[in-house]
Amino acid sequence: MDFKLNDNQKMIRNMVRDFAEKEIEPLAAELDEKEEYPHEILKKMAGLGLLGILVPAEYGGAGLDTVSYAIVIEEISKKCASTGVITSVHNSLVSDPILKYGTEEQKKKYLPLLAKGEKIGAFSGTEANAGTDLGAMETTAVLDGDHYVINGSKMFITSGSEAGIHIVFAITDKSAGYKGISAFIVESDTEGFEVGSIFDKMGIHASLTAELIFEDMRVPKENLLGEEGEGFKIALATLDGGRIGIAAQAVGIAQRALEESIEYSQQRQQFGRPISKFQAIQWKIADMATNIEASRLLLHRAAFAKDQGGRFSKEAAMAKLFASETAVKAALEGVQIHGGYGYTKEYVVERLFRDAKITEIYEGTSEAQRMVIAKNVIK
Ligand SMILES: Cc1cc2nc3c(=O)[nH]c(=O)nc-3n(C[C@H](O)[C@H](O)[C@H](O)COP(=O)(O)OP(=O)(O)OC[C@H]3O[C@@H](n4cnc5c(N)ncnc54)[C@H](O)[C@@H]3O)c2cc1C
Repeated sequence: MDFKLNDNQKMIRNMVRDFAEKEIEPLAAELDEKEEYPHEILKKMAGLGLLGILVPAEYGGAGLDTVSYAIVIEEISKKCASTGVITSVHNSLVSDPILKYGTEEQKKKYLPLLAKGEKIGAFSGTEANAGTDLGAMETTAVLDGDHYVINGSKMFITSGSEAGIHIVFAITDKSAGYKGISAFIVESDTEGFEVGSIFDKMGIHASLTAELIFEDMRVPKENLLGEEGEGFKIALATLDGGRIGIAAQAVGIAQRALEESIEYSQQRQQFGRPISKFQAIQWKIADMATNIEASRLLLHRAAFAKDQGGRFSKEAAMAKLFASETAVKAALEGVQIHGGYGYTKEYVVERLFRDAKITEIYEGTSEAQRMVIAKNVIK
């Protein structure tokens, strides 16, 4: 058993850490404040291969392993959790299912566009009445000659207004229940594709979250992803991979909260000494550090399991559950350690606090992760 990163993974971590420090850190607070999508950052990330992390070189990607992917998302999220989730969705919820379920034509057409960042990807599953219960979706796709005609709407879609390529889920056979759901690759310039509201959120402000409306949207038959009726299976398997990304985002947020808290506690003087000398503060920091290391171990184990092939639902759910709860606690304690200053926008812990909460909600709430884990451990 070896707990060390290999040389390539260390090199990637150092490269992305350096990039995030120079290119993301100076912009992150302003993007949050103005709720602006990080287009320029994403362009630069594409140049480094970070928008095609798991895509093999033959389709224009970097062809890295999933532990490297987790490292990239952690390092990006330490500086900007919004850019972290955009990158995670793009790589693991869009490129990955195309790679896994796409035809050779679909891979050749879409993967290079995504890997080079010429198009950003979005995963369009959730609807107004179908969140945790994704199978309750109402959007329909009806075959008409060489096209499927899609009608319906989607809620809370990360990058929904900015993405050029969407994986859209819709019902092709209502009588078949979960087995009547299919997945489609949809280009956003398709007639009938419309962006509705952009949600006004608590955090991850720079990752725009949109409502999408489909009105008689004609999608070519060859854009069906996998077989008709395989959509629900594709969604669940894809979300297993996505949860590794969200766990990594959570670890990044928590790690930043820890680093900021250590630094602040060593500078801030009360009662004639740095607050880091008080045991109450030391214990908070010790708990943060321990939970973060445990989260990272679960995360890397899930990433490793994904690369071994086979199912890794339990590993991904455990990593996402533990890391997201750790991020929320670490951000909360980070604000506490900063006292009144932590409640102001002058200190980054205020943003971390707002950004952390979503990691317990999207790509399956903590309750949903516990359902997956329980299903896997209670036989
Ligand atoms: C910022 C943001 C970005 C998002 N990005 C995307 C995206 O890119 N693509 C996408 O498809 N979706 C996206 N989502 C949607 C997200 O995945 C859903 O919000 C999430 O799955 C929860 O669904 P819901 O909001 O409908 O909550 P609900 O499912 O209504 O849940 C409400 C509460 O009930 C609990 N609950 C529900 N069912 C059960 C049960 N059986 N047992 C116990 N508790 C239960 C939930 O855990 C939760 O606490 C995003 C959401 C947000 C806020």
